[in-house]
Amino acid sequence: EKYSIAIDGPAGAGKSTISKIVAQKLGLEYIDTGAMYRAVTLKALSTGTDISDSQSVVELLKDTDIDFRENHIYMDERVVDEEIRSSEVNQNVSSVAKIGEIREILVSKQREIANSKSVIMDGRDIGTTVLSDAEYKFYLNASVEERARRRYEEDKSSQSYEEIKRDIEKRDEIDMNREISPLVKAEDAVEVDTTDMDIEEVVDFIVGRVRG
Ligand code: C5P
Repeated sequence: EKYSIAIDGPAGAGKSTISKIVAQKLGLEYIDTGAMYRAVTLKALSTGTDISDSQSVVELLKDTDIDFRENHIYMDERVVDEEIRSSEVNQNVSSVAKIGEIREILVSKQREIANSKSVIMDGRDIGTTVLSDAEYKFYLNASVEERARRRYEEDKSSQSYEEIKRDIEKRDEIDMNREISPLVKAEDAVEVDTTDMDIEEVVDFIVGRVRG
């Protein structure tokens, strides 16, 4: 029986780490929607496209091939798993993600992927918009200090803890206040505060809920 799990929450709440493990345990495909917004942003930055010019970014996306294959993200047939995590992309992705037409294009792509198979999909608007009919919805949260600490520890850039904390606060601010599909917990999502939980505890909680 086909079903979907929606995972939303702010930056650094553990969404992708948790989703990958749950996907393996339950035999689902993991879809990282943030990677798609990041890939467009990377392309805009690397082509010198002005991100404040929405129309140019939209034209650029129409001309860009974004794809997931075997857990890698491809942009125009190139694996960009690492490049999309740069601090430059971090600092610009939320401005790209607030463009309505960009969201329309990526949301329909995301729905198309989820249409053919069981998925666990993570992002900001999965439970509210992309898969509003998902069988299971979770909203992962944690204190901003803990989220920044996690990002600092996994980060390969030379940013300080303070810089990372400032960046994720700024990103959350834009994501929560944009006009189209802002980051908010879906009414029917189960909220999990992961501040004092380890990865295994969060995974067990979600898997337990799904298996019933
Ligand atoms: O999940 P990740 O941190 O990689 O997402 C990067 C950015 O992409 C978010 O801060 C947000 O601006 C945007 N995003 C979004 N909607 C999604 C997934 C990500 O707006 N479903």
